[in-house]
Amino acid sequence: MRIDIITLFPDMFPGVLNESIVGRAQKKGIIEIHIHNLRDFSGNKNRIIDDKPFGGGSGMVIQAEPVYKAVEFVKKQAQKKQKTKVIFLSPQGRLLNHKTAKDLSKEKHLVFLCGHYEGIDERVMDMVDLEISIGDYVLTGGELPAMVLADAVARLVPGVVKEESSIQLDSFANGLLDYPHYTRPRVFGKLKVPDTLFSGNHKEIEKWRAKGSLRNTLVKRPDLLKNIKLTDEQNKYIKEIIKECPKTNKVAVLGFCPTQKMGEKKR
Ligand code: SAM
Repeated sequence: MRIDIITLFPDMFPGVLNESIVGRAQKKGIIEIHIHNLRDFSGNKNRIIDDKPFGGGSGMVIQAEPVYKAVEFVKKQAQKKQKTKVIFLSPQGRLLNHKTAKDLSKEKHLVFLCGHYEGIDERVMDMVDLEISIGDYVLTGGELPAMVLADAVARLVPGVVKEESSIQLDSFANGLLDYPHYTRPRVFGKLKVPDTLFSGNHKEIEKWRAKGSLRNTLVKRPDLLKNIKLTDEQNKYIKEIIKECPKTNKVAVLGFCPTQKMGEKKR
């Protein structure tokens, strides 16, 4: 996959996208990320790309022409016949979620357009395929949203994350939240790791995890349960969870469950 990012602040990207898993994926050639300075497409010697808004008012607006030229330029960089999807990062866009990231991870060429100031001249929307927002709040620019989107999409591209099975168990991948994770030491202060995880019984551990995932969802994001059809087994677990933690129903509203860990006796 190739991602081209058009921005006024190219220096913001390398520190984030050249590190860790996405950085390694680039080194391996699984993904290519190219950063382009919008000012290179200004067409004037002062490299100015913005102007005052028509109709008056505060702030500056990025002009359509440099954006048009930049998008046309990066489209030509794509390999022959590869369809390009142009995405404008915008608080007015579709809220980013797992499904959108998954769909985009199947594309071959993505172009991310980062706005700044008051935004971009509305006429560039003609060349935009999709507007994506990373939340209902306004940031100073599209750079952080572009990094968030690049990371969320890249990790779903086959081969980027070494153990792909772990991605399928992550939160949202199957509509639920992930189960709780523990590592050494077995006892931390007064807190112990649940015994089941040391049982060596893989079936029991799987059950514990399936239940943990449901429990996390029920307590932290009960809204997600409305969107999935639970199996008979999952419905059985939900009943057990509510029984084990009688307050779960109420607690779901408050957002935490104070009592015992599921299926574990208090020691
Ligand atoms: N005037 C615009 C509005 O209210 O819709 C906001 C402009 S914002 C200050 C500047 C740029 O930051 C936007 O053009 C967009 O690229 C980016 N941006 C800000 N918040 C964002 C968000 N929640 N998601 C994605 N991009 C965002």
